[in-house]
Amino acid sequence: PLILAIESSCDETAAAIIDGEGSMLSDVVASQIDFHARFGGVVPEIASRKHIEAICGVTDECLDVAARALGRSRLRWRDLDAVAVTYAPGLVGALVVGVAFAKGAAWGADLPIIAVNHLEGHLYANRLAEPDIQPPMVVSLVSGGHTMLVHVKDWGDYETLGSTIDDAVGEAFDKVSKALGLGYPGGPIISKYAAQGDAKAIAFPRALMHSGDLRFSLSGLKTAVTTYINKEREAGRELNIPDIAASFEAAVVDVQVSKAHTALKDTGARTFCLGGGVAANPALRGAYEAMCKKHGYRLVMPPLSACGDNAAMIAEVARDRFAQGKFADWSLDVTAHAPLDEPY
Ligand code: ATP
Ligand code: MG
Ligand code: FE
Repeated sequence: PLILAIESSCDETAAAIIDGEGSMLSDVVASQIDFHARFGGVVPEIASRKHIEAICGVTDECLDVAARALGRSRLRWRDLDAVAVTYAPGLVGALVVGVAFAKGAAWGADLPIIAVNHLEGHLYANRLAEPDIQPPMVVSLVSGGHTMLVHVKDWGDYETLGSTIDDAVGEAFDKVSKALGLGYPGGPIISKYAAQGDAKAIAFPRALMHSGDLRFSLSGLKTAVTTYINKEREAGRELNIPDIAASFEAAVVDVQVSKAHTALKDTGARTFCLGGGVAANPALRGAYEAMCKKHGYRLVMPPLSACGDNAAMIAEVARDRFAQGKFADWSLDVTAHAPLDEPY
C-alpha cells in the first residue's frame, strides 16, 4: 500500500509517503520558523495561517517526489491507499488545517483516513533509524511541549512512567536562549555554544535528581540561569555564554540520563530510545551512548532529520495502523491534549 501522511501540529507543515515495506518514498518538511522567530516563539494564529498557505504545495511536492521514486510520471491522490494525519496533541488551530485537508483529500479520492497521535510519531521516529527494533523498550520523549519517559511494552501499548511537572526540556532551552538574547529556537543555538564551554563552570541545580520517582522539573533551572545572568550583568561582568550554555546543558543532561537509567532498571527493558526535537542535542546523545555502553543497553536514536517534527514518523505509525485495519471515521476531530496511554 501507499500511504500519505500529513503533520501540522505546530510550526512544521509536513507530508510523507511510505509503502508497505517501510520505504519512505518522499519526506517533505516546510518549516515556519522564520515567521515566528521575531516573536521569540510560535504564534498560534500565524502557525494556522502558514499551514493553510503551505499545505497544498507541500502535499503536491510530496506526490511528485514519490512519483519519481516509483519511476512514474505522476502520482495522484487516488493512486494512494490511505491518508494519515496527526490529530493530537498540539495547537488546535494548526492541527485542524491538517485534519480538514486530509479529510477532504481522502473523501475526494475515496480513501480511508488514519488518525495518528503526534507523540506516538516521535516514538516511531526510532524505527526510521533501525526498522527492526522490538519492544519492550524505554523511550525518552524530549521536545518543545513534552518531557517524559515512556515504557513501550509493545507498539501501541504505552505506559507513561513519569513526565515534567512544569516546563518541557525544549522549552527550557528556548527560555535560556531568550534570556541570553540569542534567539529562537534556542536548542540548536545553546547546544552550539555549549560545545565550546566548560560544563563545570557554574553549578546549576539538578532538580528532582534524587526524588526517587521519574518526574522532571525544569522551571527552577531556568530561573537559576536567569538569576545568574542578571547577577553577572548587575556586577558589570561580561557573560561567558559558552560556559553558561554548557553548565545549563549539563544540568539537563545529568537528570535526563539518571532518570532514564532508573526507568530501564524499573522496567527491565534492555532497549533505550529517544524522541522529540531535543533528541538532536549532541551532548544528550553522547551521554546516552556512554550510559548504554556502560550498562549494556541497546541504544536507538532517531536520525537527526526525524527528531524535530516531520511526517515520515507519522507515516511509519500509519503503516502499522493500515496493516491492522485501524481507520478513523469521518467524525475525526483534533484535540490539544491526548495521552499516549490511550491511542486513538
Ligand atoms: P511536542 O512534540 O511536544 O508537541 P514540538 O513538536 O513543538 O512539541 P519538537 O518540534 O519535537 O517540539 O521540538 C522542538 C524543540 O526542540 C524546541 O524547543 C527546540 O529548542 C528543541 N531543540 C531542537 N534542537 C535542539 C538541540 N540541538 N538541543 C536542544 N534542544 C533542541
Ligand atoms: Mg517545530
Ligand atoms: Fe513534536
